[in-house]
Amino acid sequence: MEGIKHVVSTARAAYNRGKSRPLEFRIQQLKALERMINEKKEEFSVALKKDLRKNDYAVDVFEIAGILNETSLAITKLPEWTAPEYVSKSIMTLMDTVYIHREPLGVVLIIGAWNYPLALIIQPLIGAIAAGNAVVLKPSEVSENTARLLGELLPQYLDKDLYPVINGGVEETTEVLKQQFDHILYTGSTNVGRIVMEAAAKHLTPVTLELGGKSPCYIDGDCDLDVACRRIAWGRYTNSGQTCIAPDYILCNNSIQDEVVKKIGSAVSEFYGADPQKSPDYGRIVNQRHFKRLMSLLEGENVVFGGQRDEKELYIAPTIVTDVDPNSRIMQEEIFGPLLPIVTVNSTEEAIDFINKRDKPLALYVFSHNKKLIQRIIAETSSGGVTANDCLVHYIIDTLPFGGVGKSGIGAYHGKFSFETFSHRRACVLKSLGMEKANSIRYAPATDSKRKWTLWLMKKSKGYRKMHLFTFALLGVLVAILMQFYRV
Ligand code: NAD
Repeated sequence: MEGIKHVVSTARAAYNRGKSRPLEFRIQQLKALERMINEKKEEFSVALKKDLRKNDYAVDVFEIAGILNETSLAITKLPEWTAPEYVSKSIMTLMDTVYIHREPLGVVLIIGAWNYPLALIIQPLIGAIAAGNAVVLKPSEVSENTARLLGELLPQYLDKDLYPVINGGVEETTEVLKQQFDHILYTGSTNVGRIVMEAAAKHLTPVTLELGGKSPCYIDGDCDLDVACRRIAWGRYTNSGQTCIAPDYILCNNSIQDEVVKKIGSAVSEFYGADPQKSPDYGRIVNQRHFKRLMSLLEGENVVFGGQRDEKELYIAPTIVTDVDPNSRIMQEEIFGPLLPIVTVNSTEEAIDFINKRDKPLALYVFSHNKKLIQRIIAETSSGGVTANDCLVHYIIDTLPFGGVGKSGIGAYHGKFSFETFSHRRACVLKSLGMEKANSIRYAPATDSKRKWTLWLMKKSKGYRKMHLFTFALLGVLVAILMQFYRV
């Protein structure tokens, strides 16, 4: 474990030398990252196939496209993002330069999860490099092939000291967490999120926690059920349901439950054929532990579609269970697999109440023609993100922050938000040493008239437009002259 300490202190030493800060260096590293993805796509595809049986489409669309988009965005926008942000001035700061400077946080730690093992490590890394940090990476050991490949390839393309990869299991992650970082971004379960936050608290290190939870999907009766069910089937069964923002359960009226089952079933056949086990487009459960966990969630449930399994192949068919008791086990924990429970509700109010009585989810989905109903659900519930009449897509819009709320996470990233997450907004006021007379009202000895003038100026300095500011600046100068004259 001495090795881990050494790796982190080497990254800090490199950061302290200022190596990661110059804009040209950041851009050069981002370009190298882009090159790695383009040149080693085949190797990543092989690793992802071994880990999760992802096919080329899944690798290109769900792992690589986001990385390439975000790298190119950061490279193009970095000069703009890092430029000083001049803020509006008041009468008190009229002659000064007042701005926000984005500076790197220092040495940051990124811990990834196994379900999208490439994207969940590289996407935050893009923001952290763009913001000028050193970055220690800890890929998930559960997706071991991708983790190994990241450990091999990243040092061949990026600066070895500034961006080291630490591989290993819980023991290694525990050791990494003992080190001091300036920020930690963790993606994974809520339980481990607590462990990460506890370890971070020892050093007062801020955290971004990208967690999970049960994301509800409400289907209103006034809806195109064919389209809704096809989109829900896509959201639920992509990557065999191992997607943090997949619709975890459906809420709908009893009167449409059977139709929903039928239409999701048709969509499954349309996507994966009569036997999804034979489909090259259908994934596998990541390991035996998760396979057994998912099987145990089905115990005692009313399986009306799918339910077939093959432990040797880690295959579980796209499955639907109906008339689910809200207190059953399948409704207590995030499913994170291809099982879809339907809970019936009598009204939209009941659906809202159901959602609000549980932990705030990472995502929320609503399907309806009724725009007012959609707005009402948004207004009366809370979740990390929300998509109406589709699933998952808010994730790929890089102008939206991606993150949870409450137990589904803390903070957000993607696009410019990644850069902001890994930057400190430093308040900068640059004054000159001139105009000292105007300052005399704030220096001791205090007098009544100094107090009055100071309070008057402070009050007048708020919320005025440029023209007013100019007038008040003149007044300020006049006050200073008068005070000198009367020697207050
Ligand atoms: P995981 O088992 O890969 O764990 C994630 C990381 O935590 C790994 O790097 C692992 O080494 C570390 N870890 C595990 N146990 C630990 C311990 N006891 N102490 C210290 N470190 C430990 O992933 P997981 O937790 O199975 O991930 C699944 C969860 O992640 C789901 O809840 C899912 O919703 C969530 N998730 C969220 C997002 C998001 O972006 N919000 C994305 C993907 C997954």
